[in-house]
Amino acid sequence: MDRLPFSLPDFLPGHVWLVGAGPGDPGLLSLLALHALTHADVIVYDALVDPRVMALANAGAILEFAGKRGGKPSAKQPDISNRLVILAREGNRVLRLKGGDPFVFGRGAEEALTLSKAAVPFRVVPGITSGIGGLAYAGIPATSRETNSAIAFVTGHDASGDVPDSVDWEHLAKAVPVLVFYMALKHLDRIASRLVAAGRRPDEPAAVVSRASTPQQRVVVGTLNDIALLAQREGIEPPALVVVGEVVRLRQELNWQITFS
Ligand code: SAH
Repeated sequence: MDRLPFSLPDFLPGHVWLVGAGPGDPGLLSLLALHALTHADVIVYDALVDPRVMALANAGAILEFAGKRGGKPSAKQPDISNRLVILAREGNRVLRLKGGDPFVFGRGAEEALTLSKAAVPFRVVPGITSGIGGLAYAGIPATSRETNSAIAFVTGHDASGDVPDSVDWEHLAKAVPVLVFYMALKHLDRIASRLVAAGRRPDEPAAVVSRASTPQQRVVVGTLNDIALLAQREGIEPPALVVVGEVVRLRQELNWQITFS
């Protein structure tokens, strides 16, 4: 970091940096994320942040866990946001570290709004979202000219934990050739059925990518018809992404981790 031909912004006391840690592989961290890890006084991190990323934290930093673990409920969202305000007002350099990108299904917006309302200065450092980086580690491109000129990122469950009604399934199914679902493992059978009911072909390729870019990465490939069953049979565990669309076929040639690593 000392050898960079430019300087990174100072991480000032009393500021909060809302940072994406990427999908897992620490090599996918941004320079700003690494800078924050090595300069933070307090790091408030989620369950999705890879332990190899946490190992880069400076030895003096206080680590505060703010996620779900062992079936225990996660810290309540307003509690986390308020905690960030308190830590910043105490004069700490506060690193709020989240898996993937902080503004993609990560409640980063809610936390940033609380900071803004409390007039706590903050910076947002985007991370590689799992829906793109995780797919790439499975050899599945998010787009290719032959298959899709649009892509959608969709959450597999809403705040109540159910398949989201806020999604217009009919239009989504018809309009967007590649769909990437986050948090979709639990309701995968229902999601697949909804897509087929809305007009997608049951034999359309679909894949599940679990624990992408970690040593535990697993990929299951099937069709909309059988992907839920295959994932269950293979004992696939969260966190996992589901991708539906013709891009999945490209994996046959682009699975670089097996072919070229
Ligand atoms: N902000 C995160 C998403 C948080 S929502 C991001 O940008 O990636 C949590 C969901 O993200 C998980 O249920 C899963 O669908 C997905 N996810 C995060 N990390 C993942 C990983 N390493 N492998 C597969 N899916 C992952």
